[in-house]
Amino acid sequence: EKPLLEIRDYRLNFNTFDGVYHALDGVNLSVVAGQSLGIVGETGCGKSVTVRNVLGLLPSPPADVISGEILYRGKDLLRVDQKEMQRIRGSEIAMIFQDPMTYLNPVFSIGTQMVDAIMAQQKSLPREQRKNKREARQHAIAMLEKVHLPNPEKQIDRYPHELSGGMRQRVLIAMALSGAPKLLIADEPTTALDVTIQAQILDLIAELVEDMGLSVILITHDLGVVAKICDRVAVMYAGQVVEYGSVDDVFTRPRHPYTEGLLRSIPHPGRPPESLSGIPGFLPNLLSPPKGCRFFERCPKALEKCRETPPRISRPEKGAEALCHLYSEERGDA
Ligand code: SF4
Ligand code: MG
Repeated sequence: EKPLLEIRDYRLNFNTFDGVYHALDGVNLSVVAGQSLGIVGETGCGKSVTVRNVLGLLPSPPADVISGEILYRGKDLLRVDQKEMQRIRGSEIAMIFQDPMTYLNPVFSIGTQMVDAIMAQQKSLPREQRKNKREARQHAIAMLEKVHLPNPEKQIDRYPHELSGGMRQRVLIAMALSGAPKLLIADEPTTALDVTIQAQILDLIAELVEDMGLSVILITHDLGVVAKICDRVAVMYAGQVVEYGSVDDVFTRPRHPYTEGLLRSIPHPGRPPESLSGIPGFLPNLLSPPKGCRFFERCPKALEKCRETPPRISRPEKGAEALCHLYSEERGDA
C-alpha cells in the first residue's frame, strides 16, 4: 500500500548559541491511509521535532534541514510554498497538542474560534463551495457532536475557561477535524489530563480513526496508549528511530535494547514502576553526539564496536527495523 505520509532520511539541526544541536539524524517513517502510527521515546528524543515540519512549524533559523523529504501523497512538504502549506493545513493534515489552553484564545467563545477556523480553512475553495457564517456555525456544532461534547448548541457559546481540560481537548479535536483532514497528528494529546479523561480522549481518537477513516500519528511517552490505538510504532532515541514495526510485533518481541528497557518500565499491578525509561543514564548531549551508537552509554548489550561504529538500519524480518549492531551481525553484513 502506498503511504499517505512518508518521511525519508530526515536530518535536522538547530543552530544554537552553544553550537550545532543535531536534533534528528536520518529519520525514516511512513503512515498508510487509515492506519495509526505511534511515536514513542523519552522527552527530548526528537518525537515532536520529527513531525513539526509536516506543517511547516519549525522556524528556520534556528532549525536547519540538512537532508530529507516529507512526502504527503508524493508532494514534499519541506518544499511547498506558503500558500500550498496553508491549504494543506487543516484540509489535508491537522495537528493537536498537549495543552489545549495554549491554542484557544481566552477572550473569544468556542463558537467564534471554530467559525473563524472553518472560514479560514475554506479560503482555498471556490467561492460557491464556501460556507457562510451561519453554515460554519452549524458545521461547528456538528463537529462538537462528533467529539461527544455534551450539549453542543449551548457549549459553543461558552469561553475556554468555562470548560474542563478534557472538554477543551475535545473542542480542539473538533476544530482540527472540521476541515475533514486525512491525517491527524496528535502530540501528547492527553499528557496534561487526568487519567480517566485521558482514556476518554484516547477512545475518542480511536473512534474517529474508525469512523472517519482518519490516519493518525500519535506522539506519546506512554506505551500503553500506543498499544491501545496504534497499528505501527516507531521508537525514537536521541534523534533517531531505533526500532520500527507493527505494535504486536514490537511489543511482544522487541529487538532494540532500548525498546526492551522501555517495555520493562511499563508499570504492572502489584509491582512498583521502575524509573521512567527503565534504563539508568541519560540521553546523550546532541551538541556533540556519540561517535558510534547513540545508546552505547546506556546499553546493557553493547559490543565493543558499538562505541566507534554507528549501527545501520537492519531488517531482521519483513516490516521490522532495528538500528542496532546485534542484528546487522545476525545478517553477517556488519
Ligand atoms: Fe546496544 Fe550496540 Fe545495539 Fe547500540 S548498537 S543498541 S550499543 S548493542
Ligand atoms: Mg514533545
